[in-house]
Amino acid sequence: MKRLLLAAAAAVTLLFPACHQMQMQQIAYNSKVVVLDIGHYYEPTRGGQGARTPDASKGGVIEETEFWYRYAGEVKKVIEAAGYTCLICNRGDIPTDPRLATAARKAGVHHVKSPIPTAIYRSTHHPHRIAVGMLSTNYALDQLPGAVVYLHHNSNSETWRVYNKGAFYCNEVGTRMAYTMAQVMNRDILDHPGNGMPNNGQPCGVVLRNDGRKGGGDWLNACNESYVPAVITEVAYLSNPEHARYLNRHENAVRFAQAVGRGIVEYLNNR
Ligand SMILES: [Zn+2]
Repeated sequence: MKRLLLAAAAAVTLLFPACHQMQMQQIAYNSKVVVLDIGHYYEPTRGGQGARTPDASKGGVIEETEFWYRYAGEVKKVIEAAGYTCLICNRGDIPTDPRLATAARKAGVHHVKSPIPTAIYRSTHHPHRIAVGMLSTNYALDQLPGAVVYLHHNSNSETWRVYNKGAFYCNEVGTRMAYTMAQVMNRDILDHPGNGMPNNGQPCGVVLRNDGRKGGGDWLNACNESYVPAVITEVAYLSNPEHARYLNRHENAVRFAQAVGRGIVEYLNNR
């Protein structure tokens, strides 16, 4: 069915370019599929290759790829409970760490197995777009999704430093989704009395990123050109001791992941 749709779309492009645009818009708008991409990749000897906490003093080391292997399934549960289909992917291969491998299997993570996970690849959908990690975006757009969310955390220092300007980075068609996700973060997580992540009263930011290859910009651009709302989650800073302490507690990590899921669902329900 998917192939048929793609073939039909390709045929229409040749005949009526404007028609093709409208058709792509309709496919994204009507899609009930969400693709989550676990950021970076797992390297067999060095572990997750994303940002990490400066040390283990705030309850343990957190590395973003490993974190999302453990918790992407929680985001997925929220999305599927709301009646949508959720697929999870990663640019690399299944982790060699047995616990992460089990988590990956349980969450049904599709491994894209980029031949060289650090190399730059071309978008098959929009060939002028190139970026590290693009094979995940190729997989995501192959699923004709209604939304794509890249699961990351941020870090801006080799040592502990309180920093509270986390944000959702989005493409133009994903602006509304990013604002909805930020609203949910502010309502349910950031500085939430009792069980929230301390953020010094600073609300979650939204940043439109259309500056090409920088920091995944071309993943967002490729999605934008398929009219697919796309967001990169960069809300927590692993170099922020308060964020690290918070996310090191399992119940909090689940709460954080669920809030990401709820943000996506609230957007989709109000499209
Ligand atoms: Zn990252």
